[in-house]
Amino acid sequence: MHKKLFVISAPSGAGKTTLCLKLIKDIPHIILSISSTTRPPRRGEKDGVDYFFISHDEFQNKIKTHQFAEWAIVHSNYYGTSKKFIEDTLKNGNAILLDIDIQGAASLRKVYPELSYTIFIAPPNLQALEKRLRSRGTDSETIIQKRLKNATKELQEAKQFDKIILNDNLERAYLELKNLIKEKLCLNKCTE
Ligand code: 5GP
Repeated sequence: MHKKLFVISAPSGAGKTTLCLKLIKDIPHIILSISSTTRPPRRGEKDGVDYFFISHDEFQNKIKTHQFAEWAIVHSNYYGTSKKFIEDTLKNGNAILLDIDIQGAASLRKVYPELSYTIFIAPPNLQALEKRLRSRGTDSETIIQKRLKNATKELQEAKQFDKIILNDNLERAYLELKNLIKEKLCLNKCTE
């Protein structure tokens, strides 16, 4: 069966959002999943575009009514993927790109084992990651430290993924990622 759910995970600051935004522009029929979160919006982020920013109560209600295909607590906030979005998008014949954490990747692999393909974007090293997090200028020192601590844990989990792509250079990593997904979607040569 062709892969239809492309899960991209990476430590914060590894360049994953940039890569995902480029992918949905360049690959036809692949749609980015917009998650719900209880995290407050960062400067410039828009509700319904970057995330659905919802309250803690709304999030709990969605968990209770089984509206998430997966959800997780990441850096002390809740994040979840809409089950309805996944089902509707697949029904319409499109593939889905999901920018979610390693817990979400593991959950989706269990829920949709045939359809999921998981990709881990690895930073060249932790120093490079710290530099990117700081240059982004959007997070406080406490948050940066929390994200760096999580990154160490996440890097140890990378081997569970179907593919690890090293983001030593954004352009090179992007080409590798794009070709891999196109191949899995059978848009170039088909390997399955
Ligand atoms: P940020 O707050 O920097 O946008 O995202 C923090 C982390 O949460 C990132 O690793 C991101 O991939 C992850 N994330 C975003 N949406 C979801 C989701 O729906 N489910 C899960 N499990 N993780 C998510």
